[in-house]
Amino acid sequence: MRVDFECPICGARAMDVFFRRDNVPVQPNTLLSTRKQALQCPKGTIELAFCPACESITNWKAKDGPPDYSLNYENSLHFSPSYREYARGQAADLVERYRLQGKVIVDVGCGRGDFLAMLCDLGQNRGFGFDPAYANGRGNAAAGRGITYVKEFYSEAQTSLPCDFICCRQVLEHVLRPKEFVATLQAAALRSGAPVFFEVPNARYTFQRGGIWDIIYEHPFYYSSQSLRRLFASCGFRVSALRESFGGQYLCLEAVAGNGDTVNQANEETAVGSLNDDIEKFAERHKNEVSKAFEICDGLRRSGKRTVVWGAGSKGISFLNELKTVAPVKYTVDVNPHKWGKFVPGTGHEIVSPEFLKEYQPECIIIMNANYRDEIRQQLEACGLRPEVRIV
Ligand SMILES: [Zn+2]
Repeated sequence: MRVDFECPICGARAMDVFFRRDNVPVQPNTLLSTRKQALQCPKGTIELAFCPACESITNWKAKDGPPDYSLNYENSLHFSPSYREYARGQAADLVERYRLQGKVIVDVGCGRGDFLAMLCDLGQNRGFGFDPAYANGRGNAAAGRGITYVKEFYSEAQTSLPCDFICCRQVLEHVLRPKEFVATLQAAALRSGAPVFFEVPNARYTFQRGGIWDIIYEHPFYYSSQSLRRLFASCGFRVSALRESFGGQYLCLEAVAGNGDTVNQANEETAVGSLNDDIEKFAERHKNEVSKAFEICDGLRRSGKRTVVWGAGSKGISFLNELKTVAPVKYTVDVNPHKWGKFVPGTGHEIVSPEFLKEYQPECIIIMNANYRDEIRQQLEACGLRPEVRIV
């Protein structure tokens, strides 16, 4: 369905609505303290629109401001050894290539500060981290030459802060007005001369390669390399590198303030080709993937196997909300201790520790992200467990 809605990235006047989901939790990563609260959490509608001109994908129904990230927002992946190894590799690469030694680093949307602490430790740098979701005392303030955490959104007021490098990971997809946000970062980059590093989920993984559980209300935007490049170029950035990472699940962009060539093709390592066909087929593909998951869950329910979902992040929460009427699951496991004892928004599943499984003795574990499969198997073996592991 074509709608008369101005593309927030390129300004084209027609977007194609291709996917809709109602009654999804508005803040899936804000974990709740009681089952009742979890079941009664605020719900919203996702209706995704695609711009054929620039490949931007947006939930055009998301009109509210940013959700409240200040309370119980918990999406840190740093408790996972394989994620930590990935993040450390990224940090070491940036420190080496940008010679970040004894420098000042600004992290916009630093979360609990884990990545910023890595950058500071690796190069004896000083850091400033901005994030309304920062939990006091959770970040390592002593890393490198010290980190100052500011429990606020990064804004115009901070663009005069002298710095040598700006990073912003897994934030842009949450931002309702990305042009304003990127323009603010451009002002900071222009004043300081600092290069910027951005990481976002890769729309090609979600819409082309079957990463269907990544669609959440918290993300008003999904970026492909094309739309990301377009956004940065339109905000006065010169993109110097664009690549896929974490098995193609993320996109990493590096840029400096300035006009000129929008991207050095030699430094672009992303899949090319239009997303048009994939977008047209996506609703059908989503339906098929959900049907497959439904059959798996139904089979498990009939067999009476004790089953748990591993991973109470965006993917696990999407899966449970989609399959809540059939999933034979009482508990969700997560390695992040800050999630233990909390409840999944929308479904009320309790989140437990891997240790809990020793007592519960599950016969089947459902996972959504193959990147964590080996790590999960190892953790199960460490608990003396060898349940069947199913990927959905
Ligand atoms: Zn567009």
